[in-house]
Amino acid sequence: MSPPHNAVVIGAGVIGCSVALELGRRGHDVVVVDALPAAGYGSTSSSSGIIRFHYSTEAGVAMAWEGRHYWQDWPAHVRAEPGTDGSPAVDHEAVASMVELPMYMFLAPDAERPIFLDHFDKFGIPYEIQPRSALESGAVNLDFRMFGPPARLEDDDNPFWGEPVDRFEDLLWMGGAGYVPDPQLAAQNLCTAAMAEGVEFLFNSKVVDVDRSADGDRVAGVTVVGGPADGQTIAAPIVVNVAGPHSSKINELAGVTGDMARSGRALRREVYLAPAPRGFDEQSGFQAADLDVGVYFRPESGGNIMVGSVEPECDELEWVDPDDFDETVTEDEFQLAMMRTARRMPDLGIPHSKRGLVALYDATEDWTPIYDRSSLDGFYLACGSSGNQFKNAGVAGHLMAELIEAVESGHDHDADPITVIGKYTGFGIDTATFSRRREVDANAANTVLG
Ligand SMILES: Cc1cc2nc3c(=O)[nH]c(=O)nc-3n(C[C@H](O)[C@H](O)[C@H](O)COP(=O)(O)OP(=O)(O)OC[C@H]3O[C@@H](n4cnc5c(N)ncnc54)[C@H](O)[C@@H]3O)c2cc1C
Repeated sequence: MSPPHNAVVIGAGVIGCSVALELGRRGHDVVVVDALPAAGYGSTSSSSGIIRFHYSTEAGVAMAWEGRHYWQDWPAHVRAEPGTDGSPAVDHEAVASMVELPMYMFLAPDAERPIFLDHFDKFGIPYEIQPRSALESGAVNLDFRMFGPPARLEDDDNPFWGEPVDRFEDLLWMGGAGYVPDPQLAAQNLCTAAMAEGVEFLFNSKVVDVDRSADGDRVAGVTVVGGPADGQTIAAPIVVNVAGPHSSKINELAGVTGDMARSGRALRREVYLAPAPRGFDEQSGFQAADLDVGVYFRPESGGNIMVGSVEPECDELEWVDPDDFDETVTEDEFQLAMMRTARRMPDLGIPHSKRGLVALYDATEDWTPIYDRSSLDGFYLACGSSGNQFKNAGVAGHLMAELIEAVESGHDHDADPITVIGKYTGFGIDTATFSRRREVDANAANTVLG
């Protein structure tokens, strides 16, 4: 380890690496510590990687739209190609890329116009209300009947499993969306780019304590167990908590939970794979957030469909200890997700053997992340990513670097939260939305859609 550092980033997930890269590019001496052996091995590795823009808050929409532009510009962002300023290219083994794929939502005839469309209008995000014939004429056989609200399998008398007559007339088509098939590679790209800026990474190094200055008013560094700095305290006046589903454990170590109205908790989630129904692939032209049947789905490589949940009310949420949870896919939940998806896609053959993964969200009460300072000077929060911040990794790094520099220059961010200007879109992102002390917005989502 090469001291002195002026910032420690806890966590080498896609957001931690992005924060480190931005700070490194601004000339900070940064060290990233992670308990795992390489970048992106935490919850990032399980991400569905979907890029879309419908969030319940204006700042959420602005951030996701700005975030998309990083993916479009990814090779330049991670300097896989020479910089326009003449800086040399960084050597990456492979470079992540975004597959462009529009997103559909099914709109009930009596549904109110989603509030996020006002924000789409403001930021020029492409969308259209399309008649269902737009998808009916496509390659995938879809059942446009209205089944919802979703039910459990054991509730077999529920109308959800019956034969409804009403059909969706309209669909909401959202352009500019897509997905990143290899989220871990994206984190590794950021890590490699950060190393080229002089950022140091300590892997297999678990933070076991957050240290304070002698007067207790400021963070002074972290103590780690394992890895090259085993048993040592890494001193730094800035520490950023980007520990994903472990972030609340780190906040407790730092003693900063007292004034946090919002916090992340580890939520166990399952995501499934099955052979895709006929015609459903990258070329068939869509992915979907289908609240009517309670799932999101997108094509996955190898002729598969990936299916995740949008937390219908009938499903219990499973809050867990991030160090002690069941990592096997549940047979019953797999069947349930398949049966729900098959309501919309009758050609989905339900496999006999379950396939998928188990992972954790770091979910806040309002499914909105926390990008903020904390009550302890020098200790910053980029956590509570609520299963929906992969897409924002690039812009989250920029936002945190702006926030840290503003606060370290004396700005009272609690009294006057900064507005961060997107590098690509030029739109302002009001960081009050991501405050640890925020009230829950009346329009806040109760789902991963955020
Ligand atoms: C199943 C699933 C599907 C998702 N799908 C999407 C999606 O489609 N679109 C989207 O935008 N987002 C999605 N997300 C969310 C997105 O993947 C996360 O918001 C993002 O990856 C979080 O990145 P991170 O860097 O904050 O955390 P992580 O990737 O979890 O990284 C945190 C790191 O901190 C380290 N750490 C923890 N404790 C310690 C400690 N004490 N000491 C040292 N290191 C520590 C961990 O080892 C880990 O590497 C999904 C998430 C999951 C789980």
